[in-house]
Amino acid sequence: MRYAVLSDVHSNHEALEAVLTDLDKKQIEDILFLGDAVGYGPDPNECIELLIKRCKILLAGNHDWGVLGLTDISYFNVYARAAILWTKSVLTEKNSKSLKLFPVKKDMKKGDILLVHSTPKEPETWHYLSTLWDAEINFHYFGNKFCFLGHSHQPFIIERLPSGEMVTHKESASIRKSGRYIINAGSVGQPRDGDPRACYVIIDDKNIETVRVPYDVEAVQNKMRKEDLPVLLIERLSVGR
Ligand code: ZN
Repeated sequence: MRYAVLSDVHSNHEALEAVLTDLDKKQIEDILFLGDAVGYGPDPNECIELLIKRCKILLAGNHDWGVLGLTDISYFNVYARAAILWTKSVLTEKNSKSLKLFPVKKDMKKGDILLVHSTPKEPETWHYLSTLWDAEINFHYFGNKFCFLGHSHQPFIIERLPSGEMVTHKESASIRKSGRYIINAGSVGQPRDGDPRACYVIIDDKNIETVRVPYDVEAVQNKMRKEDLPVLLIERLSVGR
């Protein structure tokens, strides 16, 4: 097994291309995408089309559902909502139809791996898994060895030992036979962990590893300015917050 797991592209075509170019140099079985193809950034159509072309499995996230009218966007903050409305206005009918087919949760590799955008417990209500206590609760809502998720744009690896003890790994972990794992793949297109480089995860039979890839942040910011997208969304890409 050797998969690349991508999440939260958020219409950032430059970041997605940089990640895919990085993956071209590596031996990868399949690319898996955990949702939020759109929202925030300037290239929703290009990102959806490229993701469909390159990924084996594609999930939907809360921003995708927001654009499709499948989730209430009144709980989004004012900047996210503005970007959703702008995305709605430029999204092609064909891409909107494609996006509608993405599930919010998927089992794969004979049940070894669960993919979800937000949480295994309630994938359609878009809760965040941000504390060890959240992780402890959620470990009881799936039986797979690995659960990959995104949504918070902050990568982490949480391992649960048979004793119930939990270990947090920051950038990489070797896989133990007896361990179970919740892995946040971070965000390709809008990292929020203080590192502005695009983020994704590679898993093979032995290791889980977070990978960072630099991309042309300024090019994306210039496109966003041209489309009058909110300044806060433009500026945060430089600092990864
Ligand atoms: Zn997101």
